[in-house]
Amino acid sequence: MCEYKLVILGAGGMGKSALTVQFVQGIFLEKHDPSIEDSYRKQDTEDVPMILVGNKCDLEDEQVVGKEQGQNSAKQWCNCAFLESSAKSKININEIFYDLVRQINRK
Ligand code: GDP
Ligand code: MG
Repeated sequence: MCEYKLVILGAGGMGKSALTVQFVQGIFLEKHDPSIEDSYRKQDTEDVPMILVGNKCDLEDEQVVGKEQGQNSAKQWCNCAFLESSAKSKININEIFYDLVRQINRK
């Protein structure tokens, strides 16, 4: 079986843990438990498989970044795809992770 290493970056509280746990265990994490993490970076290529995610799309009324702005930022920053997701309502959970694995496999 192949093992893939994926990195999830984003502001505290945006739902990184909730998205991951929803994908892996099918459970929604109601509680925010701030993760403390170390990160080391070495970049050998410009062409890193990437996807930009706008999480919490179930909270439509509180939306700060619209779909169009998300798509534009994705194009501008990394020329990658943009997906709106919800760890709570199970929207685009598999799509995020499957798309990344597909990109890795294409390399
Ligand atoms: P992290 O710091 O990025 O890992 O954020 P967490 O995964 O701990 O999530 C922070 C808070 O946002 C928690 O209370 C989650 O229940 C909530 N949350 C995460 N994803 C969603 C979502 O898609 N919709 C809603 N409504 N809340 C979410
Ligand atoms: Mg976390």
